[in-house]
Amino acid sequence: MKIMFNKHRPSSPTPLDRTARVHFTGLCAGYPGRPVLHELSASIPALATTALVGPNGSGKSTLLGVMAGVIEPTSGHVRHGGSRPPAFVPQRGAVGDTLPLTVRQTVEMGRWGERGLWRRLTRRDHATVDAALDRLGIGDLAARQLGELSGGQRQRALIAQGLAQESDLLLLDEPTTGLDPEARVRITTVLADLVTDGVTVVHATHDLEAARSADACLLLRDGHLAGRGSPEDVLTTSALTQVWQPA
Ligand code: ADP
Repeated sequence: MKIMFNKHRPSSPTPLDRTARVHFTGLCAGYPGRPVLHELSASIPALATTALVGPNGSGKSTLLGVMAGVIEPTSGHVRHGGSRPPAFVPQRGAVGDTLPLTVRQTVEMGRWGERGLWRRLTRRDHATVDAALDRLGIGDLAARQLGELSGGQRQRALIAQGLAQESDLLLLDEPTTGLDPEARVRITTVLADLVTDGVTVVHATHDLEAARSADACLLLRDGHLAGRGSPEDVLTTSALTQVWQPA
């Protein structure tokens, strides 16, 4: 995945903060004929969990897409402080539950970026896949079909696929949405634990419990930044009421 800079202004006006894994300045992005993000300036702290919070349609997935390098900014700057391409974990719903894939095959797909689609996985690839399965506590499910699993187990398989990419930046779209409370807590705990392994975690969520357990959060409203900082500073009742108010 490529790291993008604004084509018209190749040099960034602000030096990258050493503690930031990603920094964006004046970021605008969207889809043809549909501007979504408006002049966002913020940092994603390295070695921490950051929650992107906001109602449906506020631009969380679009911002993840920009950080993942799949959506090009229309203006502004995005700078990455790491050398590895980010690993992106899409929404569970975007991954067909009926695909005839085992958990192991799903996680092995995380190695394709490195190995290519047709080359055999190496011994090291298999060791990386085993480590990712173990890290998510799903080694015993490796031979099971993805479609047979609970939502929480499937989510852990997708996170393991992200980990198998061996990136230091994991981007997740709504990892806890639709899960029961126990599975939500389990996923949130896993994400916090990954930071101790040297991973910077960014997840889009409208699950306020998950957002409150993050180290930092960015609050989005209609593609504008409505708040940034620690969850207790940002997720105040008044800020949330404003953001969730119908326009
Ligand atoms: P969130 O993740 O907060 O729900 P999104 O980033 O998915 O928000 O969407 C922001 C806005 O962009 C919404 O109005 C949505 O309809 C629009 N949008 C999302 N994806 C596309 C797309 N592929 N083409 C056009 N518009 C899109």
